[in-house]
Amino acid sequence: MRILIIFGWRVVFFTLTRGVFHCPDCGGDRDYRRRQGRNFFTLFFIPVIPLTKAGGEFVECDTCHGRWNPGVLNVPTTAQLAQMPAMLLRMAVAQVLRSGDYTNPAARSRAVAVVQQAGEAGYDDAALNADLGRPFDEVRVEMARAASALAPEARESILRAAAEIALADGPLSVSEEETLSAVGADLELTRVQVTGVVSLARQESGH
Ligand SMILES: [Zn+2]
Repeated sequence: MRILIIFGWRVVFFTLTRGVFHCPDCGGDRDYRRRQGRNFFTLFFIPVIPLTKAGGEFVECDTCHGRWNPGVLNVPTTAQLAQMPAMLLRMAVAQVLRSGDYTNPAARSRAVAVVQQAGEAGYDDAALNADLGRPFDEVRVEMARAASALAPEARESILRAAAEIALADGPLSVSEEETLSAVGADLELTRVQVTGVVSLARQESGH
């Protein structure tokens, strides 16, 4: 009697965690799975023996099935933005925007959208121009006062939103980097926290 044994290997994906994130393709809050692949030895097409890990962890959107680097989880969701005091976010965004090319359409429209999502539905281009024209020192004093009332996660999310806007027109300029550090300090974040948030935003933007 001859027995034919069919064997091989394939990748099986496991879900590590689930949650809600801002999907860059869908452009809104979506459910995600954080997943990791593992190579399996298969016998008659059935995975039987786990081998090495296949690739890094990734985040998969439940709606469009787009796959992202886990750094995408640091972009604030619409729900998280709604919990940030819009005033603080407005000032952080305006400071960062004016340290770079504040005429860049992509950066400007993202800035307006982020503030609207944080609860100021009527925020528009004209309001953004008004914020861009406010004296620097006045803004910094107000920010420091408002920041102390916020949880660290919320303060990090505000800096993250500001970094994302600074990166919308390309790599960070020296002046944008300095402003992000100053905004981070006004948000009462440590240097380590600021560096962490900015480098994640960079990785995510590819700049
Ligand atoms: Zn999606």
